Amino acid sequence: MRLLVLLKLLLKRFKCLHSFCKVCGRDVHDFVVEDELWALIESDIKYGNVLCYDCFNELMNKKGIWITWKLEEIE
Ligand SMILES: [Zn+2]
Repeated sequence: MRLLVLLKLLLKRFKCLHSFCKVCGRDVHDFVVEDELWALIESDIKYGNVLCYDCFNELMNKKGIWITWKLEEIE
């Protein structure tokens, strides 16, 4: 477990914190995932059900599912 996750789990017991990734500890921005994709990795998140986008992609990649989204320049 990353030290930042441990620290934030401890702090959350005593004060209100923004949602944070339960793998790396970073604050998260919302993103939308299909329920069936989330179900594939949900059991791999040990301390809650919040992930940052990078950790979500990393867990998906470990399952052999390569999903990437990227912004493209409009012509
Ligand atoms: Zn993360």
